[in-house]
Amino acid sequence: MAPAILHAEADASAQNCNAANKQLAQSDSPSLLHRSLLEKPHRVIRGSGSYLYLEDGRKILDACGGAAVAIIGHGNDEVAQAALDQMRQVSYVHTLSYTTDSAENLARSILKSNDSGFDHGLVKAFFVGSGSEANDAAMKCARQHWYEKGQTQRRYFVSRLQGYHGNTIGAMSVSTMVGRKIPYQDILLPHISHVSAADVYHGLRDGETEEEFTQRLIAEIEAEFLRLGPENIISFMAETVVGAALGTMTAPKGYWPAVRNLCNQYGILLHLDEIMCGMGRTGTFFAFEQEGIQPDIVTIGKGLGGGYSPIAAMLINSTIVDTLRKGTSAFNHGQTYQAHPVSCATALAVQTILRRDDLLERVRYLGSMLKHLLSTTFSGCDYVGDIRGRGLFWSLEFMEDKAQKCPFPREFHFGPRVQLAAFNMGVAIYPGSGTIDGLNGDHVIFAPPYTTTEEELEVAVATVKKAYDEVVAAYF
Ligand code: PLP
Repeated sequence: MAPAILHAEADASAQNCNAANKQLAQSDSPSLLHRSLLEKPHRVIRGSGSYLYLEDGRKILDACGGAAVAIIGHGNDEVAQAALDQMRQVSYVHTLSYTTDSAENLARSILKSNDSGFDHGLVKAFFVGSGSEANDAAMKCARQHWYEKGQTQRRYFVSRLQGYHGNTIGAMSVSTMVGRKIPYQDILLPHISHVSAADVYHGLRDGETEEEFTQRLIAEIEAEFLRLGPENIISFMAETVVGAALGTMTAPKGYWPAVRNLCNQYGILLHLDEIMCGMGRTGTFFAFEQEGIQPDIVTIGKGLGGGYSPIAAMLINSTIVDTLRKGTSAFNHGQTYQAHPVSCATALAVQTILRRDDLLERVRYLGSMLKHLLSTTFSGCDYVGDIRGRGLFWSLEFMEDKAQKCPFPREFHFGPRVQLAAFNMGVAIYPGSGTIDGLNGDHVIFAPPYTTTEEELEVAVATVKKAYDEVVAAYF
């Protein structure tokens, strides 16, 4: 049996610019269902490097890689060739009975991928088509872990406010994107509990140190574990660095080691969602490497295939694998396209380029440049409340009164307007959705490809500043 890949049955082992961008014209797509039936999406005819070329002749600098996806930029020939080669060799097999070199090699490559030498403790990978599917698979795998141990009473997932884990029923249940839940609220999973976000910008009280804030957050998690009964909890599930829901928010000092200790103390699995922040985005292959902890389960996506193929993964440690092995010897979950050979070959090509071209080092270098550019350009701005992030994952959060941390009226959609204005000036950034939740956050995100040039970073930041000025002028 292959060492790294987890076989399902046989393992003995944007809000696109939303309100601000409403073009009240009928979509020009008579057959394709877009997210909005009113907004007209931009038709892209070509992607190359850091640029997207639109049908209307515009050239867009992609400073967010879609949603932090396109880590090596667009139109890479090596990746296209790898997909073609795989299609010619083996285009599809069902993983119930078969495996392929592309899937095995990708699993091996991902599981050994820590340039820092950090021992992450993850031993098997399970590949699916999207981040939402990976999180659902992980939630089921965590539940099966306890089931195999005879602890069938464990039903609860403890997650955090202002986290996003996907759109499927399971992943959406643990998310708190209020807007996306509206028609479904009463059919979501019942045994979900949410604790506070590890949100230093909004959550820190006057006079409180980061360490004290961490202690307060940890005490809240512990109280929630005790309220539910730790013996009833399946996992604690959260993004290591919060992406779209909060805007590249890193946890306060000591938070993750303390969460790890708490999960150990109460015997609860720790599942980190690194679908947006993993794959080198924050400067190390996994974001948790910088926190010095070993999770039990990790989910990855987006940068795994760099947008060249729909692929995501659940990664698990040996404790979970051993439980499955000693139990039914099968992960009771499977999908037609899991570990799809072409998706895996494509992702492997992306990961090979990441390593061969030393792109993690480049993320660290460009990340410090982006940090510098953003702080020199925006820290004196009256309505930029916070500039935060790590690696090539940075956000600007807007406030009407930054001293009082008082946001702009939600209806004004300050962040989405900045995003739209920047787009109209030729730069794509990612809009935040906190205000749509009615909770904290009115932000935009920079998450450019790791192959971006220094000059492109400068253009992106300068253009977003012009866009910001335009929106400020429109507001006042
Ligand atoms: N988890 C996080 C942290 C995400 O940012 C996302 C997507 O934005 C998902 C899960 C869901 O991934 P997907 O959209 O590929 O289903």
